[in-house]
Amino acid sequence: MKKEFTVIGLGRFGGSVCRELIDAGMDVLAIDRDEDRVNEFAQIATQAVIADTTDETVMRKLGVRNFEHVIVAIGEDIQGSILTTIILKELGVKTITVKAQNDLHEKVLLKIGATHVVHPERDMAKRIAHHMISNNILDYLELSEEFSIAEVASTTEMAGNSLLDLNVRAKYGVTIVAIKRNKENIIISPSAQDVIQAGDTLIIIGADEAINRFEQDLQ
Ligand code: ATP
Repeated sequence: MKKEFTVIGLGRFGGSVCRELIDAGMDVLAIDRDEDRVNEFAQIATQAVIADTTDETVMRKLGVRNFEHVIVAIGEDIQGSILTTIILKELGVKTITVKAQNDLHEKVLLKIGATHVVHPERDMAKRIAHHMISNNILDYLELSEEFSIAEVASTTEMAGNSLLDLNVRAKYGVTIVAIKRNKENIIISPSAQDVIQAGDTLIIIGADEAINRFEQDLQ
C-alpha cells in the first residue's frame, strides 16, 4: 500500500529523504519556504509547495494533518524546527520525525512530542569513524547511548572456526546475532556449532566498549 509523507525543508538531508521516498514509489508533499528548492522538486514530488511551516494557518490549509508521517528537516533554524513540530503535534499528525542539530535540540523535540529524532551528521560520522578504525567494520548503528549493532566482515583467521571456537561473547562481551553468507543465505541467531566461512559478514550486538575492543583486535 502506498504511504503518504510530507517532507519539510528540502536541504541536503530533507532533499535526499524526499528523493528516496519518491524512488520507493511513495506519495510525497514537499515543502520549503525557498522557491528555488521547491522548484527542484516540482517535477518529481506528488506536490511541491512554497510555505513557511511556522505559520499554523498555512499548515492547516495544506492539509498536512492528513499525512501519515511528516519529516521535519529544517536544520539551522532551531526555533523554526521546534515551532513546526509543535504545530504538527497540535494538528494531530501521528508520526513526526525531526532532524536535530544538537543534544539540547533533541531533548526539546522529544518533550514536545516528536516521535523520532535523527542526527544524520552525527550518525554518519560514527559509521565512518568506525569504518576508519577497522576496514572490517562495514556498518555501525547506535541502539542506545550504551549499545550498538555492527556489521563486520569476517577475517581470514576466523574462517573455518565455529562460534564456539571464536568464543567472542566470553572474550569481548559481544554477541553474534546473524551471519550473512550472501543475499539469499542469512543465518539468524546462529548456534555455537555454526562455522564461519570465508566472505561471511557478522552482525554483532553489544556495549560500545565491547564492540570497540572487538574491532581493535580486527585491525
Ligand atoms: P542540510 O544540511 O540538510 O542541507 P541544514 O541543516 O543546512 O540542511 P537548512 O539549510 O538551514 O538546514 O534548512 C533546510 C531547509 O529548510 C532549507 O531549504 C530552508 O529553506 C528550509 N526551511 C527552514 N525554515 C523553514 C520554514 N520555517 N518553513 C519551511 N522551510 C524552511
